[in-house]
Amino acid sequence: MGLLALGTALEWPEAKKRADQVREWGIKQLLEIWNKAKGKERDALLWGDEVEYLVVNYTKDNEKVYLSLRQAEILKALAADKDLEGGCVPALQETDTKKSTSLPVFHPEFGRFMLEATPGKPWGIGFKELLGVEPDMKLRRKIAKEHMLSSEYPITLTTYPRIGAPGQFTDPYYPPSGDRLRSQFVPDEIANPHIRFPTLAANIRSRRGRKVQVNVPIFHDKNTPNPWKDPTVNYDLHKFPEDDDVRNGAAPDNFIHMDAMAFGMGSCCLQITFQAKNINEGRTLYDQLSPLGPIMLALTAATPIYKGFLAGTDVRWNQISRAVDCRTPEELGEKPLKNDRWRIPKSRYASNSTYISLDHRLRQEYMDPDLVFDPKIKTELINGGMDDRLATHFAHLFIRDPIVIFEEDLQELDLTKTDHFENIQSTNWQHMRFKPPPAENNIGWRVEFRSMEIQVTDFENAAFSVFMVLVTRAILSFDLNFYIPIKKVDENMERAHNLDAVLNDKFYFRKNVFPSRPSRANTVFGDDNAATNGNSNNNGGPGSRPGSRYPSRPGSPGAGPVELEYAEMSIDEIINGSADGEFPGLVPIVESYLDSVNVDVETRCELATYLSLISKRASGELDTAARWIRRFVAAHPAYKQDSVVGDDINHDLIGAVIALCEREAAGRNFAGLGIPGLSKLLGKFRGGCGDEEAEEAEERPEVNGAPAAAA
Ligand code: ADP
Ligand code: MG
Ligand code: MG
Ligand code: MG
Ligand code: MG
Ligand code: MG
Repeated sequence: MGLLALGTALEWPEAKKRADQVREWGIKQLLEIWNKAKGKERDALLWGDEVEYLVVNYTKDNEKVYLSLRQAEILKALAADKDLEGGCVPALQETDTKKSTSLPVFHPEFGRFMLEATPGKPWGIGFKELLGVEPDMKLRRKIAKEHMLSSEYPITLTTYPRIGAPGQFTDPYYPPSGDRLRSQFVPDEIANPHIRFPTLAANIRSRRGRKVQVNVPIFHDKNTPNPWKDPTVNYDLHKFPEDDDVRNGAAPDNFIHMDAMAFGMGSCCLQITFQAKNINEGRTLYDQLSPLGPIMLALTAATPIYKGFLAGTDVRWNQISRAVDCRTPEELGEKPLKNDRWRIPKSRYASNSTYISLDHRLRQEYMDPDLVFDPKIKTELINGGMDDRLATHFAHLFIRDPIVIFEEDLQELDLTKTDHFENIQSTNWQHMRFKPPPAENNIGWRVEFRSMEIQVTDFENAAFSVFMVLVTRAILSFDLNFYIPIKKVDENMERAHNLDAVLNDKFYFRKNVFPSRPSRANTVFGDDNAATNGNSNNNGGPGSRPGSRYPSRPGSPGAGPVELEYAEMSIDEIINGSADGEFPGLVPIVESYLDSVNVDVETRCELATYLSLISKRASGELDTAARWIRRFVAAHPAYKQDSVVGDDINHDLIGAVIALCEREAAGRNFAGLGIPGLSKLLGKFRGGCGDEEAEEAEERPEVNGAPAAAA
């Protein structure tokens, strides 16, 4: 997202009046892209990750840890560094994807305590390149750290455990309740000061007619009062009209109550963008990755604490969803429709509601029969040459109002730009995003996978990134079919929030993911992936291989009741396969894909450490970050079994996370750190095969006493 556009950002009532114009121009720009790029072929199989960081100010001796609000200064320092010239692009500028260097790129984010880093240029699909991801992620963290104060650290927790807790939690300190957020817990200064961000927050609040309402169930421990009332809520404020919200029931019993965009958009995640060889392959990937969104969300669970309390959920997703929910009471169905056009079942940050592929296996029954879309926009897109299915997708995204509009952009429609289209597109935060080629350069059709939680270490972040890349290769190579009704994906998304959903919940998943006929013959869009990735012995996948452990299965797609096509499975079954052998499991499918292409032993061995992490997280042999953090809190001597994560526990948790990453950066194993449950988080062997130090680490017993902070 570029931030160059500056000018007069319209306040909500004014912006609202210009919404139709932005939509109209956005659709014209979309049709321009469509007509120019729909026939684009043979784009390279590129991909790239995005890692988001919190910047904390931590010292061993001060029990208080702060969120550092020095994002702008850190980005400036990165931009000014001569050694990085041409590498880390200057802060607040558009990413120049054409630059030749491969030094990482740093981006601003919503929170003024956040940073985002991407590789300097997208990754290719070569297997060797997959091994470059982890070192690159470590390099990003190292470069970021080098441009911070000695007490500042880039950490990859999804949320800061004590954001919005009483007292000082930012450095510098600002008191809460500013005009933009009107939060009683966080100051306006917590948001990136670029006009776009405070306007986004303020206009979402205005459109909604009250503050956002981010309520997370409290985790009930032995000594947690029941009912539990959020002790940090102040019912006696009278500064803004929105201070009435809590008096009108915004903060129900047994929920941690939060009231600002920063509680959601201040979260960090791990996103992966894939470039497809053409639009049809992109549409296939969008659909096939959609059902994996909730599975990967549950598997990467890392968000057990909010505002200083243990939560009853494990992931960030719904909190972000609520933190940017701009729907009016009419759209929410609380009042009869009068001024608004339709009831809208989901926030603009939500799981996606459409499938978009022209795949013949996509049955009408998988679609949402109640999908809300703008029929006028759909007709316009169809008249412009777009097919019904894709037109429906965009007409669905375009039911939303643009939130941030700059007066200056509305003077003249520029069809060589995509700004109005992107205005709507980039504020539809769905778990998949279909990214058309940008106007100005030679980029192809891309698909972004957006549900994963960021992990504590770069080993884990690389593992999940690489796993998703291999899954896409298997999808295309074997012509896999993960379709289930999109409404079931929604249900899975909810289930992914449950505490330890990875172990305790079942998720709807397709039973037979293989094509019914040999995949080559069945491939709709042609299959030259093997050629593209430099390996030519792709044999068409497990469905077609003689002697494969996956026999071809009968049953033609489209026949029989949809309900028989899927079952409820545990994450372990989905990832590792079912005990009865009926469902093969995603990791074995990826292994089968790796068997089918030429990968040298060393690379295969490295990839195996990643697959092993994924597999063991799914089986429960290893902890998710969420469970590890819960264990850490529970084991802390200051914890009173009352769900409270105080400054002391927070300090040691952040210290442990910093220590982990320092250890990782130094290329050492994690033994001897004295952090409880560490081997349950990362396993015994990480980062490399037959690593002697790692083997030695296994033999050393873990210190299981009181948590030691950054030793
Ligand atoms: P956004 O924030 O809009 O999702 P970013 O520019 O922050 O996008 O990052 C998107 C990711 O996509 C980065 O990792 C980048 O390297 C990668 N990327 C850039 N160009 C391409 C491309 N042509 N194909 C695939 N990935 C790309
Ligand atoms: Mg972005
Ligand atoms: Mg980004
Ligand atoms: Mg980001
Ligand atoms: Mg984490
Ligand atoms: Mg992104």
